[in-house]
Amino acid sequence: MKQNYINGAWVDGVSASANINPSDTSDIIGYYAQADAQQAGLAIAAAAAAAPAWALSNIQLRADALDKIGSEILARKEELGTLLSREEGKTRPEGIGEAARAGAIFKFFAQECLRLRGDKLASVRPNLDVEISREPVGVVGIIAPWNFPIAIPAWKIAPALAYGNCVLFKPAELVPGSAWALADIISRAGLPPGVFNLVMGRGSVVGQAFLGDRRVNAISFTGSAATGAKVAQAAIARMAKVQIEMGGKNPLVVLNDADLAGAVNCAVQGSFYSTGQRCTASSRLIVETGIYPAFVAAVREKLAALNIGDALAAGTDIGPVVDASQLEQDLGYIQIGRDEGATLAFGGERLQRATDGYYLRPALFTDCSNDMRISREEIFGPVACVIPADNYEHALALANDSEFGLSSGICTSSLKHATHFKRAAQAGMVMVNVPTAGVDYHVPFGGSKGSSYGAREQGSYAAEFFTTVKTAYCGV
Ligand code: NAD
Repeated sequence: MKQNYINGAWVDGVSASANINPSDTSDIIGYYAQADAQQAGLAIAAAAAAAPAWALSNIQLRADALDKIGSEILARKEELGTLLSREEGKTRPEGIGEAARAGAIFKFFAQECLRLRGDKLASVRPNLDVEISREPVGVVGIIAPWNFPIAIPAWKIAPALAYGNCVLFKPAELVPGSAWALADIISRAGLPPGVFNLVMGRGSVVGQAFLGDRRVNAISFTGSAATGAKVAQAAIARMAKVQIEMGGKNPLVVLNDADLAGAVNCAVQGSFYSTGQRCTASSRLIVETGIYPAFVAAVREKLAALNIGDALAAGTDIGPVVDASQLEQDLGYIQIGRDEGATLAFGGERLQRATDGYYLRPALFTDCSNDMRISREEIFGPVACVIPADNYEHALALANDSEFGLSSGICTSSLKHATHFKRAAQAGMVMVNVPTAGVDYHVPFGGSKGSSYGAREQGSYAAEFFTTVKTAYCGV
């Protein structure tokens, strides 16, 4: 059994959970420790005890540790990416790409340790200077989702450590393998005991333990909107700092003047790759009527050529859905779409392959309205709705008519519309002539409206969440 890592030691949990390959449910990847609330409490105590010294630790020591972690991840990206794709179901090239991204993130934050700046201002009062500096928040509870099993933990853990915080990391139940492998690498980076802790277990147990304990100064959460709302409320109830990244219903607008092949690539890549299980997936394709028939025909043609199969097999374009309950949710929404009167123009059926896995042919609904449930609710699978639009203004209004605001895209050759869209799209991230999914590792990541709450993740903007500001006066 793979153990939890608490206070610098590997420890058994109170039970163990099987990690199952969604491409082949007879393949058990391993058994992973599950903590109870008491064990989570031990990790919290260890992190709280380590926090004062770690907050004052030398930045070169932090930079070296993060750099070492990043180097090992990059050196082992094929092995880590293979494990990731085996437990989560994205294809092996996607898994390797995600592992490489995690390595790059640690390398980036190794350098950020050296770049944390303050300010010095003159006071309006005589003989005074004012100094503004950034300090660690303290102990940070990190609660991660299953769909990016190594990149999301990396983009939370790396800045937390870089800026001098102690970490409690709770991965999603479905993907303990990548989390454990990452913790194993971190455990050999020379951090003092208690600075980094891996606490695998249920959200309702371990996550709740973090939320309920005043020694946890901040919570960084990524997951569904429903859980995010609960996490935010619990954190705010005790005035903990909180950062919440949630779902999306991301639009990709395709105007009549778009390059057709480029728009089709953006749509197929953004909607269906990684099995559509990305918070930034383009689940609404808002298409101007002039290009609508050609666009739908070309997307269908491209979908028909995709290879849906075992995530680890060479030549697979789209792997399985992550588990039985997500597959049930996807199939449930496909039925809802039919019942709502949308046309299922392609796919949507469960597929049998050589091994028993959760295979689903990507589903394309046409003739959708933006009011349908399939156009409003996050499905989180390979399902996209095509919604007709009369013109640019209509398309923009439809794109913005959503509770969510994570990523918003447009395909057009009009500089005027592209420029206007960048300004008017209600989203944290805007993409012109590129898929809605896919953000570099050194720039801010996050949304507006119901997609995000709190400070941005990634890049130097991460300092906003993982530090707190101190204003200091000194009379001269
Ligand atoms: P989820 O909300 O089910 O779980 C997320 C995490 O919260 C897991 O670790 C889970 O164990 C934990 N959790 C569950 N209940 C909890 C509770 N009561 N208290 C504390 N923690 C609890 O989400 P998921 O299914 O793992 O991930 C998919 C969701 O994540 C999608 O909605 C997707 O859009 C979103 N997501 C958002 C982003 C982003 O950056 N905006 C990125 C990736 C995924």
